[in-house]
Amino acid sequence: MRCLVCKADSMIESKCTYFAQLDNCYVIIENVPCYKCNQCGEVVYTASVIEKIEGILDKAQNIASKIFIMDYTNAA
Ligand SMILES: [Zn+2]
Repeated sequence: MRCLVCKADSMIESKCTYFAQLDNCYVIIENVPCYKCNQCGEVVYTASVIEKIEGILDKAQNIASKIFIMDYTNAA
């Protein structure tokens, strides 16, 4: 898989922490599967992962908490 940023063919499967700032809270999702560039550190998520993240963000917005931290592997 080729990196969109540095064009190196060095994207590897990895796990990372997704951070989002919503209107009234912060959401941190740990252990999100992603592809990470060995060369420049760029992180790319697959479409299905992005879909799931959006679902998690929707849920998080309904929970009146300032900071919301969850584990991707437990979010199904
Ligand atoms: Zn790169």
